[in-house]
Amino acid sequence: MSTLLSHRYRRGEIHEFQASGAEFMYLVTAGAIFALDDATRHVLDLLGDGDMAHDDLVTALIGTGHSAVDAEGLVRELRIVRAIQSEQVIPAPGPTTPPADYPLQALVLNVTNQCNLACTYCYEFGADKIATPEGKPKYMTVETARASVDFLLASSGTREAVHITFFGGETLMNFKLLRDVVGYANEAAGAQGRRMTYSLTTNATLLTDEIIDFLSDNAVGVTVSMDGPAELQDKRRVYKSGKGSYAIIEPRLRALIARHRTRAVTARVTLTNGVTDVMRIYRHLKDDLGFHEVGFAPVTSSGEELEYSLDGDAMTGVLADFNALADEWLEYALRGQMHGFTNVSETISELISGTNKSHPCGAGLGLLGVSPSGDLSPCHRFTDADTHTLGHIDTGLDQVKREAFLDKGHVAAKYECQSCWARPLCAGGCHHEAFVRYGDTGHANLHYCDWIRQWTDRCLQIYGTLSEHNPEFLERFAARKGLS
Ligand code: SF4
Ligand code: SF4
Repeated sequence: MSTLLSHRYRRGEIHEFQASGAEFMYLVTAGAIFALDDATRHVLDLLGDGDMAHDDLVTALIGTGHSAVDAEGLVRELRIVRAIQSEQVIPAPGPTTPPADYPLQALVLNVTNQCNLACTYCYEFGADKIATPEGKPKYMTVETARASVDFLLASSGTREAVHITFFGGETLMNFKLLRDVVGYANEAAGAQGRRMTYSLTTNATLLTDEIIDFLSDNAVGVTVSMDGPAELQDKRRVYKSGKGSYAIIEPRLRALIARHRTRAVTARVTLTNGVTDVMRIYRHLKDDLGFHEVGFAPVTSSGEELEYSLDGDAMTGVLADFNALADEWLEYALRGQMHGFTNVSETISELISGTNKSHPCGAGLGLLGVSPSGDLSPCHRFTDADTHTLGHIDTGLDQVKREAFLDKGHVAAKYECQSCWARPLCAGGCHHEAFVRYGDTGHANLHYCDWIRQWTDRCLQIYGTLSEHNPEFLERFAARKGLS
């Protein structure tokens, strides 16, 4: 057996960054952020790209003014947080599947696969499925929805609160079902002394005052899929006739934002070719319409170069706009104010939580999708895709298929990600994008790695600046997001 004294050390997996003139390190194996003090800087410089024996490292530190006790203590601390690693580090284990009883946290109910719009980029008609699979229902029935509630409660272990997201198609085309499910689920969860929370995604075309009041009364979080002011919204978010949808949704959105009092109302923007003016879109949605939060999702996922997907130049432009909005997010935070750009807020939440993902998201883990027919899938994007059915609401989850999906999607199974410092947050990116682009859910989304790393670095800098100049804001932010 080797002793500590015989160890040779090298730098751990660290991403260094600067913020406000201070130095920080992001410890990749721990997903943790530390300020880089002079002593640590000195150790890292001594190690450089090579390695040193324990005794030589301690002797070098003593030679630069540390006491023997301090030098030993420093090396021990850096070893514990894995800022330095011994050569004898045990290699990380390969994928480990969750236990068969891994508790569910949320279900996404695709209450219909029908939509009253015909947005030209809709992934409902993506590479892995057809519009309405033959022989499968277009609308979820009450029986399937209620069985889904029972399944969620039975599969969520001891969790006190579980969540249902309503999704489509256009979700509100099946509002009748939605209303029934909320009543049933509240009762079923209440009978067990538990809570059910809700959210939904909609294109806003069918919102009425009655629906809005129902959503507000039941604290249903609402995300509206839209692309910005009329000129941009009407480019691709159109009716089957080709008519744009902005004029229809605008008054409905104003009513939604005015009447919905219990939860934040969020806009989710799909950035496509020609719809990339992030700043203008943000200003319109936040300042003109009054959304509480606005998030952006660039479309990069198509394997073929479709007319709407963003190329490298467009993505560079998007990153520049993201950075400008990130600067604004930071200015707000330094003044103690919340800002509505969710792309920063979500990453800061993950950094505060010390997120270190085994998988890119909860799909197949704490989250499952249910199709109108009751088929289970890893998430809403895979519903009605026969290639990724993980069982049925009546017969339960197929654990073998679930484990195969999770094994494939585990970050440890993605070769390229092993040497990437952004993997605690990215973990290879969306399983569905990987499937559409590479034909394999376990493939790392290598087409946007540089982009992800630059964006993650920017968010690290924001975190570092706040930890120096307004750490109370980070505490308040964590409390507000339920992270502390
Ligand atoms: S997909 Fe790319 S950015 Fe993401 S963890 Fe893997 S290598 Fe890093
Ligand atoms: S697989 Fe992709 S779309 Fe599905 S939950 Fe994960 S990130 Fe979202």
